[in-house]
Amino acid sequence: MAAIRTKPDRHLYTFPGFGSEKFPNLMLRGAGDLDNWPRRVYEQKHEGYLGMRKALKMDPSAVIEEVKTSGIRGRGGAGFPAGLKWSFMPKDTPERKFTRYLVCNADEGEPGTFKDRVIMEYNPHQLIEGMVIAGWAMQCQLGFVYVRGEFLWLIEKMEAALQEARDAGYLGKDILGTGWNFDILMHRGAGAYICGEETALLNSLEGRRGEPRVKPPFPAAKGAFGQPSTINNVETLAAVAPILRMGGAAYANLGRPKNTGTRIFGVSGHVNRPGVFELPLGTPLDFIVNECAGGVRGGKKAKAIIPGGSSCPMFDAKDFDCPMDFDSVRDRGSMAGSGGVIVMDEDTCIVQATLRLIRFYAHESCGQCTPCREGCNWMQMILQRIEDGQGRLEDLDLLAQLTPRIGLRTLCPLGDAACGPMESALKKFRDEFEHHITHGTCLAKGPGLLARASAH
Ligand code: SF4
Repeated sequence: MAAIRTKPDRHLYTFPGFGSEKFPNLMLRGAGDLDNWPRRVYEQKHEGYLGMRKALKMDPSAVIEEVKTSGIRGRGGAGFPAGLKWSFMPKDTPERKFTRYLVCNADEGEPGTFKDRVIMEYNPHQLIEGMVIAGWAMQCQLGFVYVRGEFLWLIEKMEAALQEARDAGYLGKDILGTGWNFDILMHRGAGAYICGEETALLNSLEGRRGEPRVKPPFPAAKGAFGQPSTINNVETLAAVAPILRMGGAAYANLGRPKNTGTRIFGVSGHVNRPGVFELPLGTPLDFIVNECAGGVRGGKKAKAIIPGGSSCPMFDAKDFDCPMDFDSVRDRGSMAGSGGVIVMDEDTCIVQATLRLIRFYAHESCGQCTPCREGCNWMQMILQRIEDGQGRLEDLDLLAQLTPRIGLRTLCPLGDAACGPMESALKKFRDEFEHHITHGTCLAKGPGLLARASAH
């Protein structure tokens, strides 16, 4: 089996106190050791499949209630309560029987986000166990893992783990004597960012062009192949096994009220030890950057931090103490998103960084909605002009007028997502934009404008 990394890289996941009662290790068990993935290790060392065995003895509706009690909110970005989402799936009636699908979103295309791949690489059985529990709770007949096509080595590992689960009777017909049939199929996407949006993912899964659908109908009413479907992120599903094992109430004691449990933060950018770190929700951002990721490299200060993946508004220094949970990050004007923390040091040119982000969104817009398709492109052109030293002060007002309009009439949140970093950069670092325009030079210490222009 191919694996890109051949040496254990535990240092990417651990920090002082990791695995203690304060920082429980619920999802990154086995991370850092490529030999830890088989079912045998998962069951012998990590209490594997105990949550599934418990769930299969419960009534499906009781499993949903247990997940509701845990308070877990979806880890993919929106933070919607997972148990509530599961309860939207229609139940069979004497008049009507449904085919229900569970879809795991493993597309993980948000820049700065790299947590789901770690779960699939080191702990594939925990994802499978979570999917079996979710499938039982919603009485699904089939599950799909929609995975980013570039994750080829993970797909091979997931296929091997799925076969192990089938061989053990955890997938297939009459699972553990319950009379319930359920299997999971892997489906490779082609690497489009927009296919992380749930209805675009469903279109792609069905073999159509990966474009968001008009909602309603929502997937619970009409999802994959026109049937009721629930789409959950990898990390959300991987958390379900520990929730069942320890009980929803015990899980709800972790983290903060309405922001329960642990989540995996991926820290990238200008830090000494980029990696993924599992921490209770509400852990302060400066702890994550300094204690887990080893601080800003070169002993420098951080200038800006994006707290939840590239689509989230930037934080400046006054917010570096923010508790990292859904509500606290929202109250500070950003989003917890997918948990991808991107750190930019004091030498970073915010104009250049913003251009890089907007260029991504302009490229990834599917083009169905004019405000998103044209607006992202216009933002990119204006920013490029400023970066090239050709900007005008009116451009800043033009950008400020443009951004609130882009997300107003669109089918999905991509257009709005592109505006988050743009608006926050302009609001918090306007002096850098003005300096580019008025002086034709950069306030940051990195490569100057002329050097960067000649590199284009
Ligand atoms: Fe496509 Fe953008 Fe419209 Fe989303 S907002 S459907 S990405 S054009």
